[in-house]
Amino acid sequence: MSATPLLMVPGPIEVSPAVLAATSIAPPSHVSAAFIERFGSALGRMRAVWGADAAHQPMVLAGSGTLAMEQAIANVVDPGDAVVVVNTGYFSDRIAEIVTRRGGRARSVRAEPGAAIGADALRAELQAGPPPSVVCLTHVDTSTGVRVDVPSLAAAAKEAGALVVVDGVCATGGERLDMAAWGVDVALTASQKAIGLPVGLALSVVSPAAWRARERLRMPPALYLDWMVWQPIFEAYEAGRPSYFATPATTLIPALDVALGELLDADDGASRGMEAVFTRHERMGAAMRAGWAALGLDLLPEAGAEANTLSAIRLPEGVGPDLPARIGKRGVIVAGGLHPSIRHTYFRVGHMGWVTTQPELLLRTVEAVGAGLTDAGHPVDVGFAAIAVEAALDG
Ligand SMILES: *Cc1c(COP(=O)(O)O)cnc(C)c1O
Repeated sequence: MSATPLLMVPGPIEVSPAVLAATSIAPPSHVSAAFIERFGSALGRMRAVWGADAAHQPMVLAGSGTLAMEQAIANVVDPGDAVVVVNTGYFSDRIAEIVTRRGGRARSVRAEPGAAIGADALRAELQAGPPPSVVCLTHVDTSTGVRVDVPSLAAAAKEAGALVVVDGVCATGGERLDMAAWGVDVALTASQKAIGLPVGLALSVVSPAAWRARERLRMPPALYLDWMVWQPIFEAYEAGRPSYFATPATTLIPALDVALGELLDADDGASRGMEAVFTRHERMGAAMRAGWAALGLDLLPEAGAEANTLSAIRLPEGVGPDLPARIGKRGVIVAGGLHPSIRHTYFRVGHMGWVTTQPELLLRTVEAVGAGLTDAGHPVDVGFAAIAVEAALDG
């Protein structure tokens, strides 16, 4: 066991040495030449990481992922608007609550914890009530480890004429995303998940159709959230000029540029850039699942809906919700359950971002989980699990 515990919760995550170095500088001025350059570069790189094109507008606000959710809804939903939420867990409930507070009429198509929702179920809901102006999806619901199929759900929403808002907070930068091709209108995330930074940036990319919805709003968003207030600021930075509305996060934004650059520079020999990042997360997710299976553990998500960025794992018979604390004593920090109706029946392990470039850290995690289970009076064969992980990595 190493002295520094390894952080394997589904955000915040371990960051790369280059990102760590980038955040360890004296606070830059928001009008310094170096900052302007990095901010402009980061905005452009966001388009590439999101699969957006030149007409899409990236947004970077100081705040956590929940702020990005608030911002998205405040710019596309007017009081009285119908909104359908594809609800796969805790964070889908959160966006429904944000819609309701904005005065929107949210209705959910809801899955049992661990189940995904497909396009047919969404189509049925779209026809069951007033046509919504917006459909909200949670790409990976961090409370259940379930990933939904964004392209088919977005297509169903488009058929009904709705805008598509995707909460990608536990997905973007790890799970496949091709915003322009999939017809996603707002794709949002937070810096501390798969993007690979410390907590503190609310990130989103906005389509031209979503922008037009903002222009048509009867009730403008809160000032700090308003896309129309921010857009000229981002445009100026991309053109190499400083501009001011509210002070940007001058320490985190240069680090964002570094983190996005690392994603876009990924190269595994077979593919490059985001394709290499996505396949790496798929391989590492599969290797983690091979480890859980070899430890005799069952997953919460139904087969085929498992996220690659985290695992939600059922506690075996006789093992209590103190398992994460026992794993922590073995040097790896994992998370407990989050979904309110089942929270004491499972635990969660994040495997996104920089750690996916370090297979030995993933192995260490599976071994710590095995040791924690054994400490909890549920002996398992840790060596067998390690072999299963290595075989999956080599395969
Ligand atoms: C973490 C998370 C959020 C909330 O982000 P905060 O940074 O904690 O505000 C929202 N949605 C999903 C899917 C998340 O994983």
